[in-house]
Amino acid sequence: MILEMLTVGPFQENCYVIGDEESGVGVIVDPGDEAARISLAVEQTGLEIGRILLTHAHVDHIGAVAALVDEYACPVLAHREAELMLQQAPTQAMMMGMRFGRVPSLDGYIEDEEVVAVGGLRLRALFTPGHAPGHLALHVEDEEIVLSGDALFAGSVGRVDLPGGSMEVLMRSIEERLLALPDETRVYSGHGPPTTIGEEREHNPFLKEGGLF
Ligand SMILES: [Zn+2]
Ligand SMILES: [Zn+2]
Repeated sequence: MILEMLTVGPFQENCYVIGDEESGVGVIVDPGDEAARISLAVEQTGLEIGRILLTHAHVDHIGAVAALVDEYACPVLAHREAELMLQQAPTQAMMMGMRFGRVPSLDGYIEDEEVVAVGGLRLRALFTPGHAPGHLALHVEDEEIVLSGDALFAGSVGRVDLPGGSMEVLMRSIEERLLALPDETRVYSGHGPPTTIGEEREHNPFLKEGGLF
């Protein structure tokens, strides 16, 4: 497996380039900003990009999508419930005093438990709403990793004060879908450093019994 993490843009969002060495096929997950830097990283991996996948459609995760679609002419996929928020990207940006360029469109949907094959890699979608509508995590069981989007971070969890957010729903997503994964699973989040499921199960203050919530 090839896995590159690039931290991009003013929100320090983690974009991932993930692919299968053998077949040379790859995907870009959450290209939030800095399209030129992402495509340079892709070039260095030698991967051929077949798809762009979105964990959710907050502006900090989608800013470079349109430019990369121009470059790779590849489809963009996300959960169906993320589509409305994607269309509202300019409004989301405006509320943060920013401008959003071209709004990308989705070419297809990823359902809960759907497996996206990337060469020999199998990315299984875990529907994990609560931070944003239609939020997905992507689990690669064979490699013992999960891309957790903005649901779970090292020592924290996603914010729930944006439209469609709910702490109750988020905690259920984390407990039932993410903490169901083995402790050794490495967690690559939408922001901040990597961690593991075991580390978060043990030490994340939001997940401890009798914790903050
Ligand atoms: Zn987000
Ligand atoms: Zn984010």
